[in-house]
Amino acid sequence: GSSTASNLLAELNPEQQEAVLASEPAIAVIAGPGTGKTKTLISRIAYLVEHQGVNPSEITAVTFTNKAAGEMKERLDAHFHSKQITRAMTIGTFHSICLQFLSNQLEAVTLVDEYESLDIAKEVLLSCDLSLSPRQFLRAISTWKCHMEREAPSELMDAFLLYQQRLSQIGALDFDDLLIKAWEGWQKESLPFDGFAYLCVDEFQDINEIQYQLIRSWSRHCKGLFVIGDPDQSIYGFRGSDSRCFSRLTDDFPSLRLIRLLQNYRSTPEILYSALPMISQNEGPIRELRPWKPSGSPVRILMAESDLSEAIFIAKEINRMVGGIDMLDAHTQNNQAEQDHIRSFSDMAILYRTHRQGDMLERCLRQEGIPYVVAGRDDFLADEFVRASLGFFRFILNPGDIASLIQCLQTRWKCPEDIRHALRAQWMEALPANQGDAFVRLQNWEPLRECLRLLQFYRTKIVEDSPRTLLESWIQDWNVTDHEPLQRLINMSIFHDRMEPFLQTLLLGEESDLLRSGGRTYDAGTVTLMTLHGSKGLEFPVVFLCGVNKGLIPLESAQHPADIPEERRLFYVGMTRAKEDLILLTSSDPSPFLSDIPMDHVQSSPVAGRRRPSCETQLSLF
Ligand code: ATP
Ligand code: MG
Repeated sequence: GSSTASNLLAELNPEQQEAVLASEPAIAVIAGPGTGKTKTLISRIAYLVEHQGVNPSEITAVTFTNKAAGEMKERLDAHFHSKQITRAMTIGTFHSICLQFLSNQLEAVTLVDEYESLDIAKEVLLSCDLSLSPRQFLRAISTWKCHMEREAPSELMDAFLLYQQRLSQIGALDFDDLLIKAWEGWQKESLPFDGFAYLCVDEFQDINEIQYQLIRSWSRHCKGLFVIGDPDQSIYGFRGSDSRCFSRLTDDFPSLRLIRLLQNYRSTPEILYSALPMISQNEGPIRELRPWKPSGSPVRILMAESDLSEAIFIAKEINRMVGGIDMLDAHTQNNQAEQDHIRSFSDMAILYRTHRQGDMLERCLRQEGIPYVVAGRDDFLADEFVRASLGFFRFILNPGDIASLIQCLQTRWKCPEDIRHALRAQWMEALPANQGDAFVRLQNWEPLRECLRLLQFYRTKIVEDSPRTLLESWIQDWNVTDHEPLQRLINMSIFHDRMEPFLQTLLLGEESDLLRSGGRTYDAGTVTLMTLHGSKGLEFPVVFLCGVNKGLIPLESAQHPADIPEERRLFYVGMTRAKEDLILLTSSDPSPFLSDIPMDHVQSSPVAGRRRPSCETQLSLF
């Protein structure tokens, strides 16, 4: 690297520098959004290598998403002017790190995805007398596994054991098992500890019990444990994360050095002072966060008639902001142009509480010709043909994965129950024979001859062709035309060059890892659509936060009984993604949280003061 310590540190404030230089065995940086935690973590890694002579292979960084891991690598590559250095580091999510170590040790690791888990849950529940939905059951089993309690609630024990038994019958692990199995490996020291001398963890507030245990295991061979996070942004309580992990850290590492950062570099004071009251209502110390940016435009709260008019407004407003002239508003545009910057599409994000809200927005964006990308898990992944195509390619990459083959056969050969059982039985026998065997066995299976031909054909293509090409040709071979869910899958695949990483992202990716294009190709950048959960850690100059309504924020549904403090943190996370412009939209019944926003930072003149609302959207100021 060409930089010196002084210019690496020069970009940081004194507290951030302290965090980079700290040499205690355990260090925690606890600080609010936009205070440069992630920036500090990356600078620390660069500093360790450049100025402390640490070997890159001794460094592990745990990020919350694969995308964050990718960005971290990119920023380090840019800093070092080389890709060699980061390649030697371990940078990834808990799941990808565990998968990497387990795959090195075991012959093959087969994972079931959430839909396969659901199928197994349904099967199990059929034979048990429990008044739980399959999803509730899975949530319960995950809570039990990740909390690593010795015993499950007794009425569920039989069902849990059946579920685990089914998994081991198909030789597969679910997401939780992946972490647990790896953790056991490190406990028994059968997995190596190379790479954990310098362990850095981002978004520490959202780790769950098993992830905490992994950190403890790794830190046995650690010279420097460095965790950063913000308890006020803890939003995965429903998945078993517990922000009390910070105080546990103090117990487990009595010499823990605590560093706080108070300067917020991301948002204007208007945005910060509107967001802070959301969490000051929660228990805890007084939160201090100082805006570094000068005053900007007020936060806008807009009241629409319906979610449709919200979506129409957003689409038109985005076009206005990128410089398109709306004829209706042409006479008010001149003054405005001086005040507003011209934005690009990639400056903007539209955030919402539930995936379902995205559909209407997509329609309106398409109507207005706005390029966009949607992040997150989507219902189309449950579609039978989508599952068939994924099963097909998974089986080619991992011929031990009989569950995937069956998944795929179902759609075309309607694979009767007896064939399925026979197939499974035969597979069990074949295992752990070498993987080529799987194909030989299929040859002897008359009804599967055609499938075998296809499998063989794609087996050579899978290493050369892009996921998009593979999927498009599979769709033809399978004779499924005009199938919207498959088109969506293709729109997701274009972000990947190879099938294997694409399948792994689908399987283990977090919300913001799973990107789907709006269906057009463009160079001009794209607007990002995502849930509040998916927006964690990210920042955008302009944020539209829509559906700020009762029932959505906080979310009240049968599946999710509202946990008010967590819902407040989630709304806070969403608001603090904005750097310059924050626009909150509400229709029907406004969210009760809105009344906590002090009106002095909110636009209080009618929309017409800035620009005349177009008649069709009928937006009025809240
Ligand atoms: P979050 O809690 O949302 O993850 P964070 O604390 O990780 O936020 P970063 O994303 O690291 O914050 O930084 C927020 C923004 O502030 C980034 O654009 C970053 O470049 C900028 N920033 C951080 N520190 C400084 C600094 N010392 N000087 C100028 N800009 C800074
Ligand atoms: Mg961050």
